Amino acid sequence: MLDNVRIVLVNTSHTGNIGSAARAMKTMGIKDLVLVDPVQPPDSHTSALAAGATDILGNLKIVDTLQEAIADCGLSIAASARSRTLSWPMVGPRECGKKVVEEGEKHKVALVFGRENSGLTNEELQQCQFHVHIPANPEYSSLNLAMAVQTLSYEVRMNFLEKEGEQYEPFEADYPNSGQLEGFYQHLEETLVHTGFIIKQHPGQVMSKLRRIFNRARPESHELNILRGVLTSITKLIKN
Ligand code: SAH
Repeated sequence: MLDNVRIVLVNTSHTGNIGSAARAMKTMGIKDLVLVDPVQPPDSHTSALAAGATDILGNLKIVDTLQEAIADCGLSIAASARSRTLSWPMVGPRECGKKVVEEGEKHKVALVFGRENSGLTNEELQQCQFHVHIPANPEYSSLNLAMAVQTLSYEVRMNFLEKEGEQYEPFEADYPNSGQLEGFYQHLEETLVHTGFIIKQHPGQVMSKLRRIFNRARPESHELNILRGVLTSITKLIKN
């Protein structure tokens, strides 16, 4: 199950933080590290701070966008140093660990971390189903990137160890991955442009708000297929 957990670091500035994050992951049994457009590629500082976690550095992937990093994930949770950046479903670190362990049995799960200086953009935050905030000192709540990775990886491990001893029901729902969801949002936007509901030059906040609704509802794969069928039927009607 821990093999299905991915740590995603977005646009990291300090190469040392990448190494410290790798070390944090390995201590908790998590191996899959993906870097989204790092400011600098891993270097000697990375290896020095990774200590014995060089295998994780050896296997890490570097991609250009968050979407590429999470396309095959059925659940993505964004770690945010601010308690409420957008109004979006929030979980605490403990609940985050529980969700990751439950769903990691079934599909890939990503924990997404932001830039040292500015965190994650709203667009990036909106690609994740949940946000998690570590309830640190409200007067100084921003942890070092690798320490945030450590804290949330620890919660995953605690839940994993707890579950290991227990007999539990396998997780049943089949959720679309992030790539399939993006495909749906594109299809929805195109359709709404066609119907004239969205004016291309002045799109406003409509798509963000619609994403929020679907994110909250969290359609299962077969439900998403129905929604796509609905969109296709609208397109057909327009064409006729
Ligand atoms: N100045 C940035 C803080 C970035 S810290 C900001 O205001 O957003 C780097 C990353 O570590 C964050 O993007 C987040 O992913 C993670 N992080 C730091 N503190 C956190 C906290 N209290 N809860 C959850 N994630 C945190």
